[in-house]
Amino acid sequence: MTDKAAPIAVTTRGASGPYQVLVGRGLLGSLAPLLEEYAPAHRYALVSDSNVAALYGESTILQLKDAGLSVDLFTFEAGERSKSRTTWSELTDRLLHAGFGRDSCLIAMGGGVTGDLGGFVAATYMRGIPVVQVPTSLVAMIDASIGGKTGVDVEAGKNLVGAFHAPNLVVADPDVVATLPRVERAQGMIEAVKHGAIMDDAYFDELEQEMPVLLDGDAALLERAVARSVELKSAVVSEDEREEGRREILNFGHTLGHAIEAACSFRVPHGTAVACGMVLEARLGVSLGVTDQAVVERLEQVLGRVGLPIGIPDGAAPDDIMTYLASDKKVRHGRTRFVLLSQIGAVHFADGSWSQPVDEDAVLSLVNTFLQPSRG
Ligand code: NAD
Repeated sequence: MTDKAAPIAVTTRGASGPYQVLVGRGLLGSLAPLLEEYAPAHRYALVSDSNVAALYGESTILQLKDAGLSVDLFTFEAGERSKSRTTWSELTDRLLHAGFGRDSCLIAMGGGVTGDLGGFVAATYMRGIPVVQVPTSLVAMIDASIGGKTGVDVEAGKNLVGAFHAPNLVVADPDVVATLPRVERAQGMIEAVKHGAIMDDAYFDELEQEMPVLLDGDAALLERAVARSVELKSAVVSEDEREEGRREILNFGHTLGHAIEAACSFRVPHGTAVACGMVLEARLGVSLGVTDQAVVERLEQVLGRVGLPIGIPDGAAPDDIMTYLASDKKVRHGRTRFVLLSQIGAVHFADGSWSQPVDEDAVLSLVNTFLQPSRG
């Protein structure tokens, strides 16, 4: 039986006002009254990928129709390749064809791909209609559905075309993680580990201890972890939605992670690349005298429990990693900036910034050292 306790509500502030992120088991079954309360609209467009629509599409449509809401389902093929201008244009055309007006609301129900793509459709459709995020993957619950970043991937890179479009409401129901493949749960846990590493050592400890059970899909523990990650991310994005200051701490592990992802032509999943990026960036902190070696060891230990490989993936050549790093948004005056840990739960703050410039030679030498044992 599903626990019907009151959801955990976290208020997040965006440029267009505050919105609620609700986390609770069984919440998907109460979507209709939540929509009526937080996002009343003339019509609803439920956007979902093929996997999530097959699992939850019909029951959600029935629930909303039973409540007297007007709703149509729009699906697209599951996978990162659908986070494209092509799918964006198909979806907007289908909404136009179906006669959706400015008094409509889009519900993005799915993983981060659906959230980013659906959010971008909502941001641009008739110059912007409300969106309700219903994240169903752990990556989406813990990370992607909060903070208002929406967009699509283009040839030149991931997430390069998009908009900030904060949701009216986020509804995260950990019970749906039961159908999420274990490997996808592990991807979500990487972002949770990052939240603990940069902001909350007690949460980091909990994740370390509970990781096997979380990966098994224990919904009660997942509810707690999702809620804690939401609180942590929410606090940061509420303070700095546009990433002009402290939001950059969320980039920990992502500077090298993105370069590694690109260097192996996106053949490794994002979370796997970020796990490797976090270890490398923590080691960078050690080499710069900012981070204690024990921090690296703890990070490697908890990431080891997630069960993803943390070495630089085969096929990611150091020169390519360096080339992608040089094109990173965070390069200033020819030096890439990195978020460094001062300890587990805290980011090093110096010279008025949450990120520090590092010489290319120091990064290359680290990448080469890390590469050798994993290829040994
Ligand atoms: P995804 O949306 O492709 O979902 C992963 C897989 O899980 C898909 O096959 C999906 O169909 C399936 N799935 C989702 N929920 C399910 C469920 N409950 N049961 C069964 N299957 C389910 O990918 P993702 O890992 O959720 O998200 C990755 C995307 O999120 C990337 O595009 C990334 O750029 C983006 N992202 C955005 C932000 C942001 O701030 N906007 C933050 C992090 C990641």
